[in-house]
Order: sequence, then C-alpha cells, then structure tokens
Amino acid sequence: MSLNQIRGRFAPSPTGEMHLGNAWTALLAWLHTRSQGGQMILRIEDLDPDRSREEYVKQLLEDMAWLGLDWDEGPDIGGAYGPYYQSERRNFYEAALEKLEAAKLIYPCYCTRAELHAVAAAPHLGETEYVYPGTCRTLTGKEREERQKQSRRSSVRLTVSNEIICFSDALQGECRQAVEFSCGDFVIRRSDGVFAYQLAVVVDDGSMAITEVLRGADLLMSTPRQLLLYRLLELQPPVFIHVPLLIGTDGSRLSKRHGSLSLANMRKRGIKPETIIGYLAWKAGQIAAWEPLTARDMIGHFSINSIPVAPVVVEDML
Ligand code: GLU
Repeated sequence: MSLNQIRGRFAPSPTGEMHLGNAWTALLAWLHTRSQGGQMILRIEDLDPDRSREEYVKQLLEDMAWLGLDWDEGPDIGGAYGPYYQSERRNFYEAALEKLEAAKLIYPCYCTRAELHAVAAAPHLGETEYVYPGTCRTLTGKEREERQKQSRRSSVRLTVSNEIICFSDALQGECRQAVEFSCGDFVIRRSDGVFAYQLAVVVDDGSMAITEVLRGADLLMSTPRQLLLYRLLELQPPVFIHVPLLIGTDGSRLSKRHGSLSLANMRKRGIKPETIIGYLAWKAGQIAAWEPLTARDMIGHFSINSIPVAPVVVEDML
C-alpha cells in the first residue's frame, strides 16, 4: 500500500434487510472512494450476536453487487487486513482494552439498567440516553469486591477527560463536543462481554488503515468519543464525512417500517438498480434531474460539496 492510498469503507450491521437508506450510504461511500482511485473495504459489523444474522449478510452482499457497488477487501474475498467480520476480531478489541487498562483509563461498572435509567432525566436526552454520573469510577477495591460478591455483572467504562473535542467534518463543518457532558464515561465492553460499537469501530478503522469514513449523520455525535479513543490507542483517525439521513414523508428516519423500500422488495417489484442509483444521485445533488444511471457512470462527476447537509426526504416515488 502506498503511503497516500485512499481507503474507504462501508460497515453495515446485518440486523435487517438492506433498505434505501443503507444503499444511500453505501453508494456515497463507494463514490467518494472510487472517485479518488481508492480501495473499497466492506466490513460486517456483527458485534451483537443476538441481533446479527448470517442470512442478512448473504442478502447484503447480493444487494451490493446488484447495485453495482464492488469492494476490494471483504468477508467473501478476504484481504490483507482481515478478518472482515467483527465477530472474528475479538482479539483486536481485547488488545485495545489491555492497552487502555495499562494506562489506567478503564474501570468496571456495576450499575444496573434500572439505576442508569434513574439518571436519564436530562431533558436534552432521549429515553435510552444518559450522562453517566461516574458512580463506579471512584469505587474502592473493597467496594468492588462487595459488588462482585453480590454477583453483579460489570461492564467496562472509559474514563473521559474534561476537554472539548474539536474536529472538522468534510460535509458538516466544524464540530465540538465536551464528551464529559454529552455522555460521560462511556461503555467500551458491555456486561454480557460484547464489545461496544465505539471501541470496535475505532480499532477496526484504525487497524484497517481506513482513511475516509463516510457514514450517516446519526453517528456525528459519536465521533468525538471515537476521536478520543483514536488518540488513546495511538491510531491514525480518518477523514470524517457525515451524510444526511434519508427520511420518509412523515419525517421519520427510513427503517424497517418502510418495508417497501427494502432493496429485496424493490427488486421484486421490478425496479432496476439504475433507477435506484439515479434516484439517489439526484437526491445527493449529483445530477439535476432523476434519470437512470449506473454507479460507475457517476465516478467522474462525484462532488461531496453538492450533497445537502439537512435530512433528505424520500417521496413515494419508488
Ligand atoms: N454499523 C453501523 C451501522 O450499520 C455503521 C457504523 C459506522 O459506519 O461507523 O449503522
């Protein structure tokens, strides 16, 4: 790999059928990478064994190929930075955890879900979000032993600093966040032993030498946490590009509820991949009017600056 090789990725979680919203992110990540002559990596984020299904992986690979989006490294073809399933990368996450432990930056947290819910009262946060008040950060050795004796399972949290993390997103512009006040010490391994997305994504993008992370704007608020981890793990952070989410005409995010917009369903209804690619290219500000196109047709014309910043409404056209 040459020093300035562009490496982009698409990192879906196989927890459902691929829908138009996933196709949107996959297409834009692919175009951003290919238009710079870069390598495209496909990584399956199947960390959560209860929610991930192999059949969705199979379907996803088929849908991507059908859309004309190819990859140079991935679960089916391997590559120099594998494995490409997060479920097979535990040793990488364990090594990262050890590094953070050696730096005394992590601690076990015995708080139960009910206890955490009790602190979730901050008005700016959703129901499942909370700012962790640091309850277990200062437990003495004796107090930890007591909690272990009560056979309380523990998650692992990262001690966050009181600084403000600033970064420049290639589409959203300058962003800043005090992680301490937005989420506090966050979980990097759940109490059931499953590594948290925040840790795994950093370890993977870092160790796979990813230079461009283009993904949905729902992850913009996670990026400061991830940047903190990049620094602590001494990994090189990528360029971040957070693209707007697609939303339905009712204003809600495209999801499984919009079942008719799953790629499998659209394919069944006889819609051609060129119709979908052209539609998404139009919505992404890349062409003036909706016309059939292949992803390859667009490589020479792609411009990040034309992508809108606000959420993009999908009318009932497809
Ligand atoms: N696996 C995540 C998802 O499917 C994406 C993570 C990322 O791009 O950082 O929503």
